[in-house]
This record gives sequence, structure tokens and C-alpha cells, in this order.
Amino acid sequence: MNDSAPVADIVIVGASLVGAPLALVLASQGWQVVLLDAETGEIAPVPSGAELEMAEQWDDASALQQRCTALSLGTQRWFDRHGLWSAIAGDAAPIFQVSVSHKGYFGATRLHAHELNADAVGYVVNNTHLANGILARLATTTVDHRRGARVVSVAHHQDHVEVAVADGSSVRARLLIAADGVGSVVRESLGIGTTQVDYDQAAVLTMVRLAQHHQNVAYERFTDSGPLALLPRTGSCMNVVDCIEPSEQAAVGELDDAAYLARLQSRFGFRAGRFTEVGPRLIVPLVRIEATSQVAARTVLLGNSARLLHPVGGQGYNLAMRDVEELAERLVNKITGHKQASSDADPGDAQLLSEFVAARQSDQRQVVRFTDTLARSFRGHSAVAGHIRSAALLGLDAITPLRKTFARRTMGLGR
Ligand SMILES: Cc1cc2nc3c(=O)[nH]c(=O)nc-3n(C[C@H](O)[C@H](O)[C@H](O)COP(=O)(O)OP(=O)(O)OC[C@H]3O[C@@H](n4cnc5c(N)ncnc54)[C@H](O)[C@@H]3O)c2cc1C
Repeated sequence: MNDSAPVADIVIVGASLVGAPLALVLASQGWQVVLLDAETGEIAPVPSGAELEMAEQWDDASALQQRCTALSLGTQRWFDRHGLWSAIAGDAAPIFQVSVSHKGYFGATRLHAHELNADAVGYVVNNTHLANGILARLATTTVDHRRGARVVSVAHHQDHVEVAVADGSSVRARLLIAADGVGSVVRESLGIGTTQVDYDQAAVLTMVRLAQHHQNVAYERFTDSGPLALLPRTGSCMNVVDCIEPSEQAAVGELDDAAYLARLQSRFGFRAGRFTEVGPRLIVPLVRIEATSQVAARTVLLGNSARLLHPVGGQGYNLAMRDVEELAERLVNKITGHKQASSDADPGDAQLLSEFVAARQSDQRQVVRFTDTLARSFRGHSAVAGHIRSAALLGLDAITPLRKTFARRTMGLGR
């Protein structure tokens, strides 16, 4: 590349749920941002929750695109502060109550929105709607969003990084933010290693329709083969993350809809009423993959490129968005301070990056520990252990602040 090629302030690789909103916020504060993504086209729209509710039958394609995320109030408020919530709100289902229980034992802990003096405990959004809402807003900003730009390697120089794209082009910037997912090319190209924990579990991802309205309750139920989560969508539809033992995977995969629905109903019980229909199912293995370092010279890893978590309680995205919030705040302070001093702000400043890492470490460790505990400790068939767990849930129900923290954290809605 020609040495006189311009150097942007910030290049972000990955225009999905983490990279795109960060690009938007940084550009709105005056940073010059280039956003690269390997995907070539617009993300095809998916049926809204209301359309799914009305559909007589779910076809495979639309139902499989129904992957959802539970947003904590913190994440929702961040979107709102940055003018993004109005682009998302139309299809977001509020969670009015959280219910955490343990199969086979008495005891459930519940949390109502009114106990938080909030309209909702959190919101369930469809990932595609979320991405499309953010990208539509992005198109009205100064972000230089390049689609079909597959990054193949990264080279470091003292005052910038250079990102090479498969089409032969390249981008130079003073800060590189990797939001390119779990298989991050940026991470690999920089030689940042990963640690991997295999949970010896798989998750069935699907949707169910109920005979009645779910009343906007989100459920996390701990069973001997792992956690089972039901998140409310529009009307009487719920998203399901059903953790199973790997030894069950082949048999569960073979079940027809009626047999799977019966199995699910027996594991979950009737607290949400009767399940009447199940959508297509996708089975994924469950692992935790973490980068050994979140920063390198002039580089930060965010979202799944930094950390892929077990989906229990849907912690991953909310944690990633707290990273986004912290980094954005530090970068915005940097540019504001430098505008006042009329000097040139360096977004890749090593001190800024190391302070960002230090500020985020405690929250990240707590969430990883919490997720690991939930994924592992409720498994097994020991009745004694089971009673202790139920007692813990009952005990929590009696101790209001602890119960609130437990229920919110369990659903990824904490903070
Ligand atoms: C079953 C399940 C349920 C979940 N539920 C929740 C929940 O309820 N709440 C919650 O907080 N979290 C949840 N999560 C976690 C959440 O899905 C992730 O945190 C989130 O998807 C991370 O997004 P990302 O932008 O980091 O990565 P991705 O969504 O993987 O995006 C990566 C982007 O980078 C692009 N890209 C990749 N490679 C390149 C390249 N070489 N060059 C250019 N572009 C590239 C891709 O095209 C893509 O757009 C769940 C996860 C799972 C598996």
C-alpha cells in the first residue's frame, strides 16, 4: 500500500450487533469511522413477531431467523440514549416478570418489573430486526460502511494499523476494533490465542406457540440435563433455548415435532400453559471461547471475538454492550478533551486501551463465573443436591435484594 494513503481514526471489522452500534456512536461524536463487513448485501428482512403470531404455519426459513436476544434495561437505555431504541422498539417484547425454577423441586424465584420501578425487567428482540434497525440508522451517519469487505490480515505500524481486505484494498487507521465474531480473523492475524471450555452440552434453539398468552414472563428452568429458557415474543410465541446432554443429541434431533413438543412440555411443565406448535430446530454445541488478551497495540477485541459464553441466561450480548459503552465513553472523552485543547486525539492511545481493560475486568470475570456456575451446578441427579438448590431458590425468594440480583443476573438482565 502507498504510504501516503489516508489514515482513518478508527476501523471496525464486523458490522453486526456489536460493531454497528459502536460505529454509529463514535461517528456521531466526531470520530472518522470505517466499518468493514464480509457480508455482501442488505440483511433480508424477517417476519415481525406480529406476523409470526398471525402465520398459520411457520416455514423453516422464517422460524430459523427468529434468534432472539434478551436486552437488559442497561442495554435498552444505552440504545435509547443514542437514538437507536425507536428503530428497534416496534418489534421488542417487554419482559414483565422473570421466573427461575428447578425441575422436580419446589421453589421458584420471581421478579416483577414493578419491583424495579420500571416498565419492564428487560426486552426480547429479534437479532435480525435489531441489526436492520441499527444499520438503517447507520446509513444516515458519516460512517464509511463497506459491505463485501472480507478482512484477511492485519499489519501493525507504530502510528497505525493496516487492514488488508480480500479484494486487494486496504484500510489504515489509528485504532482497530475487532467485532468480527467468534472465528475472528483479526484475533488470529494478531496471534492472540484463545482458551476454550467445553461444557459437554448442546442447545436446541427453536420457538413454540402456546395455547394462551405468555403474559410476558421469561422463564429459566434448571433441569438435570441443563438450563431451559423460554423468552416471550409477541402474543403467544416464545423463543426456546433447551440445553441437552451430548448423548441425547442424536435422539432429540430425530424426534418429530409432536414428540419433541411432548418432551419439552414434560421438562418444562405447564407453568406457561400448553405448547401447541414448535418451529424448526437447530442444535448447537456449547463452549466458552475467550481471547487471552482483549487488547493489542492499537487494537481492541469486542463481542464474540473477545468472548463467546454459554447462552444460559443470555449474558453475552449485554456484557459485550457494557464493553462497548465503556470504550465509547473513553473515546468520546478523548475527542472532546482534545477539541478543547485544539490538539490531535489518538484513539489508539495505549494508556486509553489499558485503562479500558482494567475498568472492564471485574464485570467480565463475574459474568463468566456466574455463567459457568449456572451451566454446571444444576446438572446431575443427586436428590440431596437438588433439595439444596431448591432451598437456595426459596431462600433467595425470601431475601429480596439477593433475589432481585439473582433473577436479573440469571436472565442476563442484571446491571
Ligand atoms: C443461542 C444463543 C442465544 C443468545 N441469547 C442471548 C441473549 O438473550 N442475551 C445476550 O446478551 N446474549 C445472547 N447471546 C449472545 C449474542 O448472540 C452475542 O453476544 C452476539 O451475537 C455477538 O455479536 P458480535 O457482533 O460480536 O458477533 P457476530 O454476530 O458473530 O458478528 C460478526 C460480524 O463480523 C463479520 N465478519 C466476520 N469475519 C469477518 C471478516 N474476516 N471480515 C469482515 N467481516 C467479518 C460477520 O459478517 C458479522 O457481521 C446468545 C447467543 C446464543 C448462541
